Amino acid sequence: MVNTFSFACSACGKCCNSPPAMTLPELFRHRDLFIGCLAIGRVPRRRAGERLRAGQHESVLDETDAAAFASLADTLLHGAGDTFSIVTQGYDYPSLARCPALEDDGRCGIHLKGKPVTCEVVPLDPLVPDTLQHLVLAGRNQSALYLGTDCIQEGPRADATLLVAEGRIEDANAQHALARRRHALEQEKAMWGRAVFESLRNDLFESPAALARIPSGGFLTISIVPALLAVAGASVRCREWCLDYIDSQLALIDRRVAQALLRRRLDDRPVTQELRGFASAFQRARTLLVAPKQSRNEDLVFASSVEAYLSSACN
Ligand code: SF4
Ligand code: SF4
Repeated sequence: MVNTFSFACSACGKCCNSPPAMTLPELFRHRDLFIGCLAIGRVPRRRAGERLRAGQHESVLDETDAAAFASLADTLLHGAGDTFSIVTQGYDYPSLARCPALEDDGRCGIHLKGKPVTCEVVPLDPLVPDTLQHLVLAGRNQSALYLGTDCIQEGPRADATLLVAEGRIEDANAQHALARRRHALEQEKAMWGRAVFESLRNDLFESPAALARIPSGGFLTISIVPALLAVAGASVRCREWCLDYIDSQLALIDRRVAQALLRRRLDDRPVTQELRGFASAFQRARTLLVAPKQSRNEDLVFASSVEAYLSSACN
């Protein structure tokens, strides 16, 4: 069979080499373990006739493929023309080369306490149509991260789950995880993503000089505060949850920076600077959020949606 891949995760932990993308409620739930940030990436619009290649696999996109990419972009991403992903994620010192939840035996320490949905989706990509996931797997099968792990294999294998075949996701768990991650991204866009995109429109998304700060194929990381301010404004309860989150994050940043100072690594210094910047942004947000509020009309529908969205992590 062509374009067929199997997958068998042995939980070796090799792909847990940095903190993952996490939803805001997931970051709230694990607020004493993960420092939250916003990661902003550029995602080019795909056009019919465009050739995508990964390893030995190649596809020339037709109108249906281009429409499937556009549908995902319209639902999950931001902007027109070139589109941008804005996600919340964990942040830590790259020199540690590990997710903070990774145990020394290679296991995930939060597997039973709410493992991030993005980790359940591995090795698929929610921004790629199901019919083209074989290209994602072909690319990942060749990446250094997965080399030597054998978890992604071409063709059907007796000792692995058939993941993708002939343009379909074959495994029900993978289908479910992809659906949940896409739903989560859609929800994040509605709860705070649109507001953050608008708040950064002039200073980032419409400024060529600022856009140049987004590395090609990578992410620009900034403070998570714009997302917090978007949800904190929904109701008094949301504001209290955000203040609680800010206090936990300030304490966690203090601990992480103190550990880094003991390591005395030169390459940690810019990260420490960035974390101090995050801490300053949290302090400013704290001052803003504790200040007495003018009475104003709350959007009760939005308030109850945001409370429901955050409550799984805060109660
Ligand atoms: S590298 Fe592969 S086998 Fe190891 S944890 Fe990640 S998905 Fe599983
Ligand atoms: S949360 Fe768990 S599965 Fe996800 S990257 Fe961290 S250790 Fe790996």
